[in-house]
Formats: sequence, C-alpha cells, structure tokens
Amino acid sequence: MNIGVLALQGDFEEHAAVLRSLGVDPVLVTRPEQLESLHGLVIPGGESTTMTRLIRVEGLEAPLRQLKERGVPVFGTCAGIILMARALAEPDDRVITFGFLDIVVARNAYGRQRESFETTLQVQGIGAVKAVFIRAPRVVQVGTEVEVLAEHEGDPVLVRQGPFLGATFHPEVVPTLEIHQLFLDLVRSSAPIG
Ligand code: GLN
Repeated sequence: MNIGVLALQGDFEEHAAVLRSLGVDPVLVTRPEQLESLHGLVIPGGESTTMTRLIRVEGLEAPLRQLKERGVPVFGTCAGIILMARALAEPDDRVITFGFLDIVVARNAYGRQRESFETTLQVQGIGAVKAVFIRAPRVVQVGTEVEVLAEHEGDPVLVRQGPFLGATFHPEVVPTLEIHQLFLDLVRSSAPIG
C-alpha cells in the first residue's frame, strides 16, 4: 500500500512514525509526481498558511486538488483538516481550502487559555482515545454528507466524508494508533490495491 505524508512543514515525521508502527513505509511527499501513484495521503498538523505557501511554491496545488476527482483517500490533522475544508469561517487568501470535506472551520478557535489541551474522546467504532489539541481549529459547520465520528464539548473533532477523514486534534503526537488504522482501513476499502 502506497501511502504518502505531505512533508513540506509541520509534524509529518510523527505521522510517518505512526504509519511505520502500523507496518506501512510512507512516501514523504514534496514533489507533484510523488502524488501520482498514491493510494492515500496524510496532511499533517503545522501551520496552514506556511503549508499553503509551500504547496504553491512546489506546484502541488493542482495535483492535490485532483486527489478528489481520483477518489484518493486523504487524512488531515489540525492544519491538515483546515486545508481539507470547504471554507474558512473568516476567509483568508493565505490558506487554500481544497473542499475535500464539506465543513467550515474557524482557525485557532480555542483562545489563548486553551491553546493546547489533552482530553479523552469517544470515537465511533473505536471507543476511548486520548487526544491532544494544539491551537486547534473548530469545525463550525458540517454538510449533510459528513459523518461526525467524535465530538468534544459539542464540536465535531473527527469527521469523515467518503474517502476523506479529518481530525482537529493530533493523533500523531500521542501513542494512539487507532485513528491511523481507521484511515488505513478506509484506504483498503476505497481502492483496489494491486
Ligand atoms: N493553528 C494552526 C493553523 O491555523 C493549526 C495548528 C496545528 O496544526 N497544530 O494552521
């Protein structure tokens, strides 16, 4: 199974490490042609403005957009879910929104006091999972096609729409494998891998 991790900025190494512990040796994606043969892509947490700048510099915007037409599964965490959203609550040209998920997100929505926090979430089909939130976005609108797999204080924090999965938290920074496993299951069920 050919899984990529977008490796322009942010905590792509942490994602790669989780994938390796699940038996997948990921491709660290920095160039457009690396996207061609992928069965799935992870977009890490980091800074969505910086990631957007580098996506544009590296000519990755169009090929990333095409993942939707090709039905390639994508999993985004934190800054990653921001890039996967349909729109930002406060539009900002410095941030691309690919529209893989029919959601609207507000960046840095938890305020200073709670810039980062840890909690336990109840995830549908999985059960209790530890979750770390770091300057997390808040999902403020979800479309009818979007399945909410976990909530925190009434806000959706793990959502799925077809082959696309997004988390506002960081399953890559705690020793949790379940959410990545869920993504790999999605990849397996989405595409014939030969
Ligand atoms: N606040 C960051 C952004 O807007 C996301 C934070 C993160 O990925 N940990 O891009």
